[in-house]
Amino acid sequence: MQGVNVDDGDLLISGLQHFSFCRRQWALIHIEQQWADNFYTTDGILMHEAADDPFFTEKRGDIIVSRSVPVRSERLGVAGVCDVVEYHASPHGVPIAGREGKWLPVPVEYKRGKSKEIDADRLQLCAQAICLEEMFCCPKIEVAYIYYGETRRREKVTLTDELRAKLESMIAEMRALYNRGYTPIVKPTKQCSACSLKDICLPKLRKFVSAKEYTSAIWTVDGL
Ligand code: SF4
Repeated sequence: MQGVNVDDGDLLISGLQHFSFCRRQWALIHIEQQWADNFYTTDGILMHEAADDPFFTEKRGDIIVSRSVPVRSERLGVAGVCDVVEYHASPHGVPIAGREGKWLPVPVEYKRGKSKEIDADRLQLCAQAICLEEMFCCPKIEVAYIYYGETRRREKVTLTDELRAKLESMIAEMRALYNRGYTPIVKPTKQCSACSLKDICLPKLRKFVSAKEYTSAIWTVDGL
C-alpha cells in the first residue's frame, strides 16, 4: 500500500455528499470555507466519532478491520478518510505487510439516518473504493457497505460501472467549479429547510452569487 499524502488541490470525498445535496452548498463549504452545524451535521459527526478510533485494527475470523483509514486517489484528485476498511481474505486480494495470505480491502461507511434514493452515500463509498484500488494496486472492489444508524442495517452496495462513471462525471464537475472558484447561484428547493447552511446561503437573496458578496454588501450599506 502506498502512503497517503494529501495534496492541497485534492477535493474532499465527503464533499460528494454536499455536492449531491446542492451544488451551492458544496461551493459554500469547499470553495468559500463557510460552515454551520445543525442537527443533521452534528449528529453525523457524533456518528462518525463512534466509528473513528485511529489506528485501531482487529481481526474477526477471515476479516481484518481498520478504522479511520486515510485514502487518496491521485488519478481522481480526491482524498478522505474511510470510517472502516475491512480486509477480506481472498485469493484475488493483495499481500498486506505483517499478515499472511491475500486480502481485499472493502470500505464500510457509517451514516446517520437510512438509505436514500439519491446516490450521495453510494458515490462517497465508490470514491473510497477507487482510492483503495489505486493505493493497493488491487482488482476492482465489486461491493462495499454502508451502515445506517437509524435502521441499524448494513446496505450492500454494488460498485457498478454506471456508478463509477457517475462519480467521475461528478468529480469533473466539482473540479471545474473549484478551479474557477465559482459558487453557483441560489436555486431554492424543498431541501433548503433542512440545509445546515441556510442562514449563510440566504436563499431569498438570489442576486448575490456568493455569501462573501452578500457580507461585503451589508458592510457597505452599514458604512462599515
Ligand atoms: S439553503 Fe438551499 S440553495 Fe442554499 S445551500 Fe442550502 S440547499 Fe443550497
